[in-house]
Amino acid sequence: MAAIDGAAITARALKEQGVEYVYGVVGIPVTTIAIECQKVGIKYVGMRHEQAAAYAAQATGYMTGRLSAALCVSGPGMLNAVAAFANAWSNCWPMLLIGGASDSDQRGQGAFQEAAQLETIRPFAKYAQVVDSQARIPAYIEQAARAALYGRPGPTYLEYPAEVILSSVEEETVNWKPAAPPAPRPMADPAAVAAAVSALKTAQRPLVVVGKGAAWSRAEDEVREFIDRTKLPYLASPMGKGVIPDDDKNSVAAARTFALQNTDLVFLVGARLNWIMHFGLPPRWAPNVRVIQLDIAAEEIGTNVPAEVGLVGDIKAVMGQINAELEKEPWQFGQENDWRDALKEKITTNQANTEPMLNADDVPMGYYRPLRELRDAMPKDAILVSEGASTMDIGRQVLNNYLPRTRLDAGSFGTMGVGPGFAIAAGVVNPDRVTIDLEGDSGFGFDGMEVEVACRLNLPIVFVVFNNNGIGGGPAKLDPSRPLPPNALYPLAHYEKVIEAFGGDGYYVEKPEEFREALDKAISNRRPALINVVLDPVARRRPQQFAWLTR
Ligand code: ADP
Ligand code: MG
Repeated sequence: MAAIDGAAITARALKEQGVEYVYGVVGIPVTTIAIECQKVGIKYVGMRHEQAAAYAAQATGYMTGRLSAALCVSGPGMLNAVAAFANAWSNCWPMLLIGGASDSDQRGQGAFQEAAQLETIRPFAKYAQVVDSQARIPAYIEQAARAALYGRPGPTYLEYPAEVILSSVEEETVNWKPAAPPAPRPMADPAAVAAAVSALKTAQRPLVVVGKGAAWSRAEDEVREFIDRTKLPYLASPMGKGVIPDDDKNSVAAARTFALQNTDLVFLVGARLNWIMHFGLPPRWAPNVRVIQLDIAAEEIGTNVPAEVGLVGDIKAVMGQINAELEKEPWQFGQENDWRDALKEKITTNQANTEPMLNADDVPMGYYRPLRELRDAMPKDAILVSEGASTMDIGRQVLNNYLPRTRLDAGSFGTMGVGPGFAIAAGVVNPDRVTIDLEGDSGFGFDGMEVEVACRLNLPIVFVVFNNNGIGGGPAKLDPSRPLPPNALYPLAHYEKVIEAFGGDGYYVEKPEEFREALDKAISNRRPALINVVLDPVARRRPQQFAWLTR
């Protein structure tokens, strides 16, 4: 008879459920879980903050389609991870958070790092349990894996009181569980599939919106086939970009506002009508826009606008059903009609308006010119991580994605601070591709110390900091005689020195050509680099038709 402790049982069970990566910050009482994970061949990545660890775990889950975990200590450690955990809930991304906790028999006594962890995380968790028996650890992990990955994905939480990790039981008493099979891919009701195709045929001004649900479902082949067959105009949501390459000729991204406002029938493919999509309501959409909605979460059908056709199922499976229907009876949206002409005209005008800014030689630079340099320098298979308000918003329009799951950004939750954690995950999972982490100076500040992890692991990540001295652009210099504006950050800060402290390559650039030269070098070197790009602190986005959030 051999004894085994909770940490070793956990590592074996994680391995059995297909976990390849655990990101964490070790300490009492979870350190041995990380050590045991390494013994069974799970890659353990030590991060600098629990929040970044949880961001990395969820990004890994989204990119790989498999469960990935974050590990943190009790009390403050676990609570540090909660905002990131909620980000996974908001994005519908899978992950497992393993939280240490104080010893059960000290509860209520003011134990070391004792906190109401389970209660805190519950509203954001698809599944949350206290692990109360070592024999059942594999069962809890298998349940958490299924909850995270099946149906609409989401984050799951397991809480480990210290004694469950540290004490041992006889191996024979452990109730081992086999790996949960891959997530089921339910098909939609065939009648709904037929109704969806008929509805599409009756639209005057149809529009397809491809969301990150399609990316998660790995439905890129089916979605591309559908657009190729039907030639329907489509828009990608921010992280839906790349499911179909952004340069596809049916993309109407450059006429987004116009397309949303004027379509009479939208087909939502794994995208919610939330704030990002302006709720599907006027003034950003036509009143009474017809909706065909494809989602794996039945309860999502009809949110904000009643759906004329609800397709409940997995996107890869259901788009396959739709393509089969179109194979039987081929149909295409006409090549010459008012809708296509109007969209084309709008695209041409919008592009012409942006063109001078993309080519501007001004120093200090605005947003558009350096984004153009980045667009031209980025390899087509690069992973792009992006956050920061204007940096991300303008970047989304200028930068292209050609492959699915190559864009990770502030997402449904609009979270700042996700960048470095996401970028480290991208680098860990794709060591043979370049990751660009495009940050505003404010965004970078949240989790900037994570560049140490990139250097320690020698990951091919190029951090690009668009530096405008503040949250939305701060003062050009500090004036000690007046109170500092609340959005001010230290002017002309040398963020590149942060990475130099750990042996990474730092660049400080002020001119477009300097930026391009630094980018080309940093990308071809395939090692950690940070390019600090000085921007005009008063640079803004091109004037928009609607104010932010359309109040
Ligand atoms: P975006 O921000 O790109 O618009 P959202 O996160 O708002 O995307 O929406 C994604 C939707 O995709 C969610 O409602 C989610 O339930 C759905 N979804 C996730 N996985 C699948 C899947 N395999 N099949 C169908 N729908 C899915
Ligand atoms: Mg800024």
